[in-house]
Amino acid sequence: MSRDATTIPTADFEEAGATPGDSAPARSDGRRKAPDGEAHRVTPMMAQYIEIKAAHPDCLLFYRMGDFYELFFADAEIASRTLGIVLTKRGKHLGEDIPMCGVPVERAEDYLQRLIAAGHRVAVCEQTEDPAEARKRGGKSVVQRGVIRLVTPGTITEDNLLDPARANLLVAVARRRLSDTEWAYGLAAVDISTGRFTVTEVSAAGLAAEIARLEPRELVVPDAVYDDADLAGLWRETRAAVTPLAREGLDPASAERRVKDYFGVASLDAFGQFTRSEVAAAAAALAYVERTQLGSRPPLSPPSREAAGGTLAIDAATRANLELTRTLSGERPGSLLATIDRTVTPGGGRLLAERLAGPLTEIAAIARRQEAVAFLVGDSLLHERLRQALAAAPDIARALARLTLGRGGPRDLAALRDGLAAAGALARLLAASGDLPEELAAARAALETPDPALAGRLAAALADDLPLLKRDGGFVREGYDPALDEARALQADSRRFIAALQARYAAETGCRTLRVKHNNVIGYFVEVPQATGEDFLRPPFNETFVHRQTMAGAMRFSTVELGELEARIASAGERALGIELAIFDALLGEVVAATEAVKAAAEGLAVVDVTAALAKLAADLGWVRPQVDTSLAFRIEAGRHPVVEAALKRDGAAFVANDSDLSAPEGAAAGRIALVTGPNMAGKSTFLRQNALMVVLAQMGSFVPARAAHIGLVDRLFSRVGAADDLARGRSTFMVEMIETAAILNQATARSLVILDEIGRGTATFDGLSIAWAAIEHLHEVNRCRALFATHYHELTALAERLVRLGNVTVRVTEWQGEVVFLHEVVAGAADRSYGIQVAKLAGLPPAVIARARTILDELEKSDREKPVSALIDDLPLFAASVRSAPAAPAAGPQRDGLREALDAIDPDDLTPRAALEALYRLKSLRAAED
Ligand code: ADP
Ligand code: MG
Repeated sequence: MSRDATTIPTADFEEAGATPGDSAPARSDGRRKAPDGEAHRVTPMMAQYIEIKAAHPDCLLFYRMGDFYELFFADAEIASRTLGIVLTKRGKHLGEDIPMCGVPVERAEDYLQRLIAAGHRVAVCEQTEDPAEARKRGGKSVVQRGVIRLVTPGTITEDNLLDPARANLLVAVARRRLSDTEWAYGLAAVDISTGRFTVTEVSAAGLAAEIARLEPRELVVPDAVYDDADLAGLWRETRAAVTPLAREGLDPASAERRVKDYFGVASLDAFGQFTRSEVAAAAAALAYVERTQLGSRPPLSPPSREAAGGTLAIDAATRANLELTRTLSGERPGSLLATIDRTVTPGGGRLLAERLAGPLTEIAAIARRQEAVAFLVGDSLLHERLRQALAAAPDIARALARLTLGRGGPRDLAALRDGLAAAGALARLLAASGDLPEELAAARAALETPDPALAGRLAAALADDLPLLKRDGGFVREGYDPALDEARALQADSRRFIAALQARYAAETGCRTLRVKHNNVIGYFVEVPQATGEDFLRPPFNETFVHRQTMAGAMRFSTVELGELEARIASAGERALGIELAIFDALLGEVVAATEAVKAAAEGLAVVDVTAALAKLAADLGWVRPQVDTSLAFRIEAGRHPVVEAALKRDGAAFVANDSDLSAPEGAAAGRIALVTGPNMAGKSTFLRQNALMVVLAQMGSFVPARAAHIGLVDRLFSRVGAADDLARGRSTFMVEMIETAAILNQATARSLVILDEIGRGTATFDGLSIAWAAIEHLHEVNRCRALFATHYHELTALAERLVRLGNVTVRVTEWQGEVVFLHEVVAGAADRSYGIQVAKLAGLPPAVIARARTILDELEKSDREKPVSALIDDLPLFAASVRSAPAAPAAGPQRDGLREALDAIDPDDLTPRAALEALYRLKSLRAAED
């Protein structure tokens, strides 16, 4: 969001039709003359509003007025648009109406959630004194107000504002200069809802990919970085809310001091070695957290450093294209994550998402996770029991964060009670199953960290049914505290007394319909019908009954005895609540003291959950453990695409499994490239993606959907789709396709896996063919990576004769009674033709169009046979040779060049097929005229 979207004019603020008492003298700023004194006054309340708003220019200000939070000016416009609530007006400013809208306080959480989801920040401004106090200061005084909290997307802890299945990261960015042209970027990622805190440093080229991996809800970025033209696209495209920060004098020394101070340590060495940009980013994150929490310090873990290169590099475009954690349209259902998620706890769901977003690049770490999954696949009984125990575990990480920040309630304590009990149960199950693999042994140790006495005490103290708020009382179990039981008994006794009193009054007055009732205005009272009430006003009854109210058909009286009882009930109630709150605080103190142990247990729960979930997936769907090593192998037997397979299964259709082999040939330090041809809808894209997903799954430590898989560690994964296929991004520009292709050709190493899907499709045929051709040569000769390249340019299949590690595969189709039948089977060889016309027929193009297309195709094929493109292969030197001999830059000829002008005038994105054909003929004839 734009950073000044919510700023308001800070000049004088005037309000016509203000409340009668609000008539402070007009402040003159000298820039204008008030046309009439009355209309140009700033009420004290609006003056207060402006002052508070000025201190929080980047937030929407929720300004408390009675039962509403009101928003004014641009804030009101934004909120009414985002929330779909009515925009009204209140008074005038510079002669214009002041826009206003409001949300009721009791529904504020709902509205907050929607504003936060839309990426806004909200400052919640409350009345900080009793209005009666303000009145005492005089009629014109405004109630004191102050901002009690900043709610921002990256710093929330409330359950209903958070997505249980996703980490909620605030990422701060800082940078340091490496050379005149190069920067290193430090990133600090904080999740205050769970305490996670990691830092890392990346190069400028790796910045976007790292942010895509972290998928933050909110980014805080120094002004200078925010304004860097090279990064403007990054801030614009990210899903996160981006907050530019003025440099707050965070020089290296004060940055370090801030981090040390937060964790109360004398040196950061104990946490690891950090670069200057990492410390700066960490300090910026902490400063922002403290600012939004108004000084409260959530229980963060000390920063842990994530080594650069420790995870598989996957850039944002590849992530989006492979639909790892969300689909191209931004939703979770339909993504790889949603398809493989079998976790049963929120913490497990978040860890799975994190592992999927950042697969590993270290063999030992991958093997460690695989071991654990294999162990549970092999012990289905233990596996089932673990999952049952897990199902009872609430989100203790987030409950802990709320409690520590003073926002927790009885239900958060109960979450800890149940979560710690589940942790204990899991630890016992694991302990009973002998020789655990390393990952599960570590999880077991973590699960055992909390003192069981804490869970025991929580269980003893908390009642079964719990109120949301502690101030409602009634959450401490009977029998836990004798003094509390006594106070409660007194309350209960008093109620019995009241019942007895009612019976006695009824007997004494002879009024059988006499009732003792209670309301918040007059407390306890006796209510009788009108006629009886008249009697009560006279002796002897008026000695006992004091008249309070006359209602339609009834009268109300108080008595001395009732008054005494009421006082007793109230004081017993107060005492009981006081005791309960003290018990809450004591339990809270114990929980906070056990923060580290609780966090360890939460992590243990998550690890066991993810491991069990991956084991379940593997067992249910018949996935296998891939062999992952440091070779350059890539051999998949009977691989499947998990998402497409699941979708087909829902329709009762079967997925056709396919092999692939991109392994480097014996003795070569370079992988193979498979050129995939086949008609539209044959399954090319599916085949490409399933192989890329295989890498993600294998390196995150999961089993894979195949009969067997051997994958040599991949350092970077790239995936691109030709612009014409890339509809969901809503800007089918050839430029984007080329920028992304350039990134691959510039970055892919011999350890990378590249999939290119119909690159060159977004432009005219010959352009596209040439670009695809050159790109393949570059991949083969320069990048030397393992790659899959799907194309509809059959001409390219001839390249296999010249490029030794290039092989052709095709997705089979057959024709049956003139219709094309898709077999989805990938076999060696090249497609003989593209079946475009058959597919068009299948799609229901009018028969006349189909027939005409066949005629045109025949003509085109005839001319192609006279000068086939494949013949060009022999005419053109290979990429490497041509690079060496390429002239620097063609000198621009001063003379008119008709052919070039005609070419320039063509906008390929704008052409119908027919116009394209005509253009082609025109170019040909121009060329002929030149000779
Ligand atoms: P292409 O990229 O060749 O146009 P896609 O990969 O988009 O084709 O696949 C088109 C459709 O074919 C998919 O949506 C899917 O329903 C089906 N399909 C693809 N591959 C398979 C397969 N291996 N087994 C079964 N159905 C498949
Ligand atoms: Mg495709």
